[in-house]
This record gives sequence, C-alpha cells and structure tokens, in this order.
Amino acid sequence: MNNSTVNTIIKKLKSNYSDPVWERRMSPIDELIFTILTQHTSDLNAEKAFNNLKGHYDNYENIIATDDKKIAKLIKSGGLSNIKSKRIISVLSEIKNRVGKLNIDFLKDMSITKARNWLTSINGIGPKTASCVLAFSFGLPVIPVDTHVHRVSKRIGLISSKVSADEAHGILENKVKTEDRYKFHVLIIEHGRKVCHSRKPSCVKCSIQNLCKFQRQIN
Ligand code: SF4
Repeated sequence: MNNSTVNTIIKKLKSNYSDPVWERRMSPIDELIFTILTQHTSDLNAEKAFNNLKGHYDNYENIIATDDKKIAKLIKSGGLSNIKSKRIISVLSEIKNRVGKLNIDFLKDMSITKARNWLTSINGIGPKTASCVLAFSFGLPVIPVDTHVHRVSKRIGLISSKVSADEAHGILENKVKTEDRYKFHVLIIEHGRKVCHSRKPSCVKCSIQNLCKFQRQIN
C-alpha cells in the first residue's frame, strides 16, 4: 500500500468523522499512569479508576509509599487491579530511582527513539504505553497501536496479518506521514469503534471499502 492510498484513507475518514486536533490532556506522568490503567479495559473504566486514585493521593510519592492492596482497591473499576497496582508502584519506583523525582517531562528533549527506549526499558511499559505518553502528552508524531488500530490496519492491508501490535508501531509510522500520525491514530480508532467492528465489520457502510484488502478478499 503506497503513501497516496494512506493519504486517501485519512482524507475519507476525516470527512466521515472530524479532523482531529491534538491537545494535551494531562501531564506526562499522569498520562503514563492513566495508560497503564487502560490496559485490557475501556477508557471509561480506566478513567473512573484514575480519578479515584488521584482523588485519594495528591502526589505520586504517596502512592509509592502505599501498600499495593490499598491501591488495588482504589483502581478496582479498571480491572486487573492487583496486577495494575503492583505495576504502577513498580513503574513509579523505577522512575524515582532513575531520575530522583517523579517527573518525566525531560523526555521531550530526547529524540523519539531515545524517549521510547527509555520508557520501554522500564518493566511494565510496552510500546503502546510509551507511544501514548509521547503522542498525547508531548504531541510527538508516533502512533500508539491499540486493539482497534491493530485490527483495522491488518484488515485494510497496512500491515500483514502476522504482524503483532508491538511490531506494528514502527511499520505504521513508516507508512504514515509525520504530520498525519496523530490524526491516523484517532481516526482509525473511531472507525474501529463505529464501523470496522471486531466481530462483524459493517463493510457495506464503510467509506474505504474500495481500498481495503479484507473487502477484496471476501468479494
Ligand atoms: S471494508 Fe470492512 S474490513 Fe475493510 S475497513 Fe471497512 S469495515 Fe473494515
């Protein structure tokens, strides 16, 4: 699939939905903890868990000093709370050990590769979580590959069916222009939620069906 096809897909999805404009939604450290909470659950559940956690602790230093079972209770609505509470404490502790404080704003001064490597070298932070921090809190041109982006990209034929979500980050970033990466991420997620559903995609309603590999295979 060439660049002009990717451009056409973005253009069509923009006219179906809206033209996404980047806006920072939270600080980098908050984005990191929020993204850990979104793992294997909906944004809505993660948001409840995050707000509950932030409502009880006014800084992350206090979270590190707390028993993980207490954290697990507070983030219960986010699911897998026993695993996530331990993960949050261990990620924050590792940041404190490395940086001396609970602040990762310095990542904005690194290259994307170095910032991504720094984050993913911490146990519990994978490529998607790292990319969410870089894309949403710093506005850097990376594409977080969540379940929607992974599924829809495979169906369209942007990545092969054997490519894992982790591997897809680099492949998709090579195919999507720097200035379109944030838009691509947001639009593909919206398309995955509204049309290209996991179980049964609504191909008849799809504006990009003539560009889609899955559609060509079933016809
Ligand atoms: S044609 Fe079907 S499979 Fe392809 S992107 Fe559209 S909804 Fe998804």
